[in-house]
Amino acid sequence: MRRICTALHTAAIMAVMTAMIASTAGAQGTYHQTKPLDPANIDTTCAPCTNFYAFANGGWLKANPIPAAYAQWGSFNELAEANNDKLKLVLEDAAAHRTTASDPSIRKVGNFYAACMDSAAIEKAGYDPIKPSLAEIAAISTPADVKKYLITRAAEGRDILFRFGSTQDAKNSSQVIAGIGQGGIGLPDRDYYFKTDAHTAAVRDAYVKHIANDLVLVGEAPAKAQADAQSILALETSIAGSHLTRVQMRDPQLTYNRKTPAELAALAPGFDWKAFFAAEKVPGSTAIDVSNPRFLTAVDSLLNTVPVSTWKTYFTWNLVSRAANTLSSPFVNEAFAFNQNLTGAKEQLPRYKRCIAATDRAMGEALGKAYVEKYFTPEAKARANAMVNNIKAEFRSRLASRTWMSDSTRKMAYAKLDAFAQKIGYPDKWKDYSALTIAPGGSYYANSVAVAAFNNADDVARIDKPVDRTRWGMSPPTVNAYYNPLMNEIVFPAGIMQPPFFDPNADDAVNYGGMGAVIGHEMSHGFDDEGAQFDAQGNLKTWFTATDLANFKAKTAAYADQFDTYTILDSLHVNGKLTNGENIADLGGLTIAYAALEKALGNKPRTKIDGYTPEQRFFLAWAQIWRSNTRPEAARLQVATDPHSPDMWRVNAPLSNMPAFAEAWGCKTGSPMARPASESVAIW
Ligand SMILES: [Zn+2]
Repeated sequence: MRRICTALHTAAIMAVMTAMIASTAGAQGTYHQTKPLDPANIDTTCAPCTNFYAFANGGWLKANPIPAAYAQWGSFNELAEANNDKLKLVLEDAAAHRTTASDPSIRKVGNFYAACMDSAAIEKAGYDPIKPSLAEIAAISTPADVKKYLITRAAEGRDILFRFGSTQDAKNSSQVIAGIGQGGIGLPDRDYYFKTDAHTAAVRDAYVKHIANDLVLVGEAPAKAQADAQSILALETSIAGSHLTRVQMRDPQLTYNRKTPAELAALAPGFDWKAFFAAEKVPGSTAIDVSNPRFLTAVDSLLNTVPVSTWKTYFTWNLVSRAANTLSSPFVNEAFAFNQNLTGAKEQLPRYKRCIAATDRAMGEALGKAYVEKYFTPEAKARANAMVNNIKAEFRSRLASRTWMSDSTRKMAYAKLDAFAQKIGYPDKWKDYSALTIAPGGSYYANSVAVAAFNNADDVARIDKPVDRTRWGMSPPTVNAYYNPLMNEIVFPAGIMQPPFFDPNADDAVNYGGMGAVIGHEMSHGFDDEGAQFDAQGNLKTWFTATDLANFKAKTAAYADQFDTYTILDSLHVNGKLTNGENIADLGGLTIAYAALEKALGNKPRTKIDGYTPEQRFFLAWAQIWRSNTRPEAARLQVATDPHSPDMWRVNAPLSNMPAFAEAWGCKTGSPMARPASESVAIW
C-alpha cells in the first residue's frame, strides 16, 4: 500500500493490492514543501546514532498530527495531496467539457467524475440501483442457480468466490494464460478469522455487526440479519481456512500450478468450468495457473454442502458491500464505520477526494493522459531516465564486487540487469477505452458496473496470446513504483517523480537519497528473495549455482531474523518473512544509490548545506521520505497484511547495517544505529 511495491505475478493478486490502497490511502489539504530537505523536521535532542528516524523526523512528527480523515499521515500523503489538487483541476475541467471534449476518453472521465460527485441524485436513488440484482439473488432456488450466479457475475468482472483473470505463464513468460486465485473473504486476511487476540476478536465482532447492518439496510428484519451475519462469518471462515498465508503467497514455486482443463475439473469437479470459460469468452483456454489448488477444492466442496439459503445471504452481502460506496449515505456511512476498526480514521474524506480516487481506479490511463499532458514534462522524463541509467551502472559495479557469488552466477546476474526494461512517467501506448460506455446521466453505480465489465473483458482478452509489454500496472499519477519479475521491468509513474523524492532544485545528495534509492529499491527487487527466482526473460528458473544460492539464502534469512526482532506499538512484531523482499530492496537500493552519489561527488569538496555534509543529507533525505504518524489500528493492519515494514524500520534497519551510515554520522560500533560487522547484513 502506497509504498514502492514489488508487483506480484497474477492479476488476481494485483486486485487485492489495489483494494488495499483504496481502503487506507488518500490525501488532503494543501502542501508546499519550501526546502528540498527541511532542517525544521529534525529533532536535535534525539541522537542520530541511537534512533535516526526520530532524529531526522522528530520535529515534523510533533508538528503534524494525523488529520481526522486519515489512518496515517506522512510524506506520501503530502505528495498525494499536492497531486490531488492537480487531479481535481483536470477532473473539473473534464466534467465541465463532458459533452464537448474532442477526446472521447476525456468525455467518459468527465461523466464518471460528475456522476460520482452528484450526491443529490445518489441520495435520491437510495439503493434502487442494486434492486434488480437483489431480485436476481432472491430468485435463486437450487445449487445449480448458485453456480450460475457465480459464473454470470464473474463474466461481468465481479468475482465473488475466486479471482479469475489473465496472468503470464511464470515458466514461459512470453505467453499469457488464464489464472485463478483465492478469494471469497471480506476481512483483510485469512488470519483475521482465526486469531484469538482481543483486537482481532473485536474486529470480527464489528464485522458481524457490519454485515447485519448492511442486510437491514436492504430490508431484512434485524433478528434475521443478525443470524445471517453469523452464518456468513462461518462460511467465510471455512473459505479462509483453505487460503494460503501471505508469506506462502510470496513463494512463486508454491503458487505456480499450471493445469489443463481436465486437471482443473478434477480439482473442482462440481463446478461447470465449460460454462464458466464460455461466459468469460475464452472457451478454448488450455492452460490455467491455479495459485492455490487446495482452496479451489475446498470451495468446490462448500458449493456442494452449504445450503442454498446461506449462499443467497452471502451473495446479498457481497453485492451490498461492493456497491456501498456508490450508494446513498447510509451505505457509505456503514462501510466507513466498519473500516474505522481497521484504519482508526475519525471522519470520511471529502467527497471529491473519494471521487478522484474512484476515477483513477476506474479509468486511470485516461485520467493519467490528461494529467501528464499538463504536469509532466519531457525534461522530467529525460532526467529520470538519466538517473535510472546511473543507478543501473552502479548496480553493475556492485554485482562485480560481490565476493559471495561465483562468476557463473554473476554472468547470469549481469544478463538479468542488462535485460531490465524501464518505464518512466506514462505508457508509450495508452489503454483503449473505446469499448467502455460511460454515458451522461448514468448513475455512479451503473458506471462502476460498466467499468468492472470493461476491465474484465480487456483483461481476459489477453489470455492465450503473447504478452503485451507495453502495459502498465499503475496509473501515471500514482505516488508509487514497482518491479514486475515476469516482465523483468522497473516502472516509475509520473506521480512519484516530484518532491520529496525528486526535486530539480535540490542538491545531488537529496535526490540520490530520495529518487535514487527508490530506483535502486526497484532494481534490487529483481534480486530479492522472490525476484531472484526469475531469470532475465522473467521465467521462474534458478540461475544461481547451488553454493551461491545457499550463500544468498543465508544472507536473506539473517536479514529476515533481524526484522523479526523489531516491534511497534511496544509488542507487535514485524513479520521478517513477509517483509523480506521489501527489506532486501531497501538495503540494496540505499547501498547502490549511496555508491552512485559518491561517484557523482568524486573529489569535489564536501560542502555543507544547513550544517550537514552531502553524505549526511543523503541519509536524511531517505529518513524524511518515511516520516509518518500512524494510528494504532492502521499499524496493526499494516503488520498483518503489508509486505512493507513500518516506516521507522524502513529507516533504522537498513541504515544500521551500512558502514557508510556509521561513518557519515560518526556512530560508534555497537550503538543502536551501527551493528558490529559480524552482525551486519550486506547482500547487494
Ligand atoms: Zn518494493
